[in-house]
Amino acid sequence: MLGPSLFIQPHYDDVPLSCGGTLALLAEGGHEPRMITVFASEPVDEMVGEFAAWKHERWKVRDAEQVLAVRRQEDAEAARALGSSVRWLGLPDAIYRGERYRSDPELFGALKPEELELAAHLAEEIRQLPEWRDDMQVFVPLGIGSHVDHQLVFEAGRHLATAGVRVHAYEDCPYAIHTPAGVEARLTALGDAVGQPVIVPIAKTLQKRLDSIACYRSQVPVIFRFTSDFRQTVTDFALKTGGDAGPAERFWPVHAYGGAR
Ligand SMILES: [Zn+2]
Repeated sequence: MLGPSLFIQPHYDDVPLSCGGTLALLAEGGHEPRMITVFASEPVDEMVGEFAAWKHERWKVRDAEQVLAVRRQEDAEAARALGSSVRWLGLPDAIYRGERYRSDPELFGALKPEELELAAHLAEEIRQLPEWRDDMQVFVPLGIGSHVDHQLVFEAGRHLATAGVRVHAYEDCPYAIHTPAGVEARLTALGDAVGQPVIVPIAKTLQKRLDSIACYRSQVPVIFRFTSDFRQTVTDFALKTGGDAGPAERFWPVHAYGGAR
């Protein structure tokens, strides 16, 4: 999996959380991998509905501008810790996309049909980025946990695969860690949209992945509310993933629409 690479994350934090070890390996190998955060628009106050306001409360931030500044600073720090940089795209995340998703069940439910067009648009936008190179491989979330934003970026990955781009889906953490059954459920739902998984050993860069996750100071207590020691939790999961290969991360090749390629 060497070569120029673009790691697409729906939200600030998904790539360091899920596959930061592989990104750091590519960076150390001189492949200059880049991170792209998709749902990173500048929220205007009118976009913050009741549901978003409740989320903000939980994140202990008072206004949208403050959310943006804090999260971007954390994201940039995390990218640096992995030897990369990050670009933020202007798509509003689901809780800010009007009234489409108004509760957690909706946020983790089916992708609304009107959003499929957004996935095609996103795939196009990715290929227009200054970072884009035709020999690039792209990493997208598999969509474990079914967050609609993750599903949407996965679909954009399928559009890219259909256009002939090499696309890998990473194992969404922390969802895959705290709800292993979600991995099987998502794979069943995807059917032949993805191929057999491959393992990337990350013993050399696991520490960098952990350090980059720690950069998301405002999020770590929320993301890892199911554990008191996120470093141990992520390490245990990487060890379980790799088995005899030592700590590892897992990826699935993403197939084109209309059959495997
Ligand atoms: Zn996410």
